[in-house]
Amino acid sequence: MLQPIEPVMDPATPPGHPRDLGGPWHSEAACRSDEAGLFFAPSKEPTAARLAREEAAKRVCARCPVMLECREHALLQPEPYGVWGGMTAAERRVVLARRRRREVELQRPAAGIAVAG
Ligand code: SF4
Repeated sequence: MLQPIEPVMDPATPPGHPRDLGGPWHSEAACRSDEAGLFFAPSKEPTAARLAREEAAKRVCARCPVMLECREHALLQPEPYGVWGGMTAAERRVVLARRRRREVELQRPAAGIAVAG
């Protein structure tokens, strides 16, 4: 089971955004009653056991009513370990790298467009 998580409150987040909840979203987490320790790796976990554990954790996440809030929290913090929002730490690193690339591309002036002056 995950430890209680305080919701991320970003002053730039407009009201009504999923992170801008009236109460802590983690109170609805499907993993709150998980006793199997699916979400974080024990030390020296063999690869096959890790893969099986992560897939089991993802199945819990798939029926979690706050999966999107949890995932975004884990991406924004970012949370370096464990399964959050149906994603492993490695999967979150890929998403974050894509987001960073997209941000860089959006800031780059479009090639081949003449600037009027
Ligand atoms: S999405 Fe997964 S890790 Fe996140 S609160 Fe739900 S069950 Fe827990």
